[in-house]
Amino acid sequence: MARTVLVTGGNRGIGLAIAQAFVRQGDRVAVTYRSGAAPDAAGSEAGAGRLFGVRCDVTDSDSVDAAFGAIEAELGPVEVLVANAGITDDTLLLRMSEDQFTRVLDTNLTGAFRCAKRASTKMLRAKWGRMIFISSVVGLYGSPGQVNYAASKAGLVGVARSITRELGSRNITANVVAPGYVETDMTAALPEDRKTEYRKAIPAGRFAAADEVAAAVTWLAGDSAGYISGAVIPVDGGLGMGH
Ligand code: NDP
Repeated sequence: MARTVLVTGGNRGIGLAIAQAFVRQGDRVAVTYRSGAAPDAAGSEAGAGRLFGVRCDVTDSDSVDAAFGAIEAELGPVEVLVANAGITDDTLLLRMSEDQFTRVLDTNLTGAFRCAKRASTKMLRAKWGRMIFISSVVGLYGSPGQVNYAASKAGLVGVARSITRELGSRNITANVVAPGYVETDMTAALPEDRKTEYRKAIPAGRFAAADEVAAAVTWLAGDSAGYISGAVIPVDGGLGMGH
């Protein structure tokens, strides 16, 4: 059954791969983008679903509200929310300003909250919904220089598990996908020697392709995953195993 899906931050990287995977399976997919151009349906197969781009800054409640309004008018109420929009702003604790800390939380955690709150009203009415929060292994195990990012990504676990307890009886599930290192713009910026070091620590010996994260997300959004909620699914090539 085709669903209406919203992927935040879906104009590139993991978000775009997720959006394209839903389009390939025939869903109506809205992606929000903050800057740059709206994504096109490149990569989706003929005869499959739709891709609809909406400009939206998840740090701005009015912008989130307007995006949901536009999506509802074009594709219908959001049935599957993928809260993917995220940023990093790394520096060691001693050097991290309060603004650096709160800015990352405002995008990664409060941004996801704003979208989940807005999506929940229609999901409750429909008595069906799927929320998937894109966290990170950094949120589970921490990382030097990423106190802000780790806090935001750990917070998503609490959000998903509380939503599970609040809305689980209404056929709404909320899960977390925690990628390790994925080949996107975010990791392209890392120095080559650091990437080599990280690859050595990953049992799979490589970074993930964004499609490999998308596979976990589309599965969690499907009817067959209806009894899975409050789960944290690592997609990390075994990176987190030793923790
Ligand atoms: P990218 O940097 O490639 O893309 C980030 C996306 O988020 C972009 O679409 C960006 O939009 C959007 N975004 C950022 N801030 C906002 C905002 N305020 N409002 C709306 N959209 C915003 O990241 P990735 O694809 O690598 O990462 C996607 C998610 O996966 C993030 O949450 C990240 O933390 C997480 N993750 C990534 C990993 C990796 O190794 N790459 C590992 C683990 C988790 P715009 O283009 O307009 O800036």
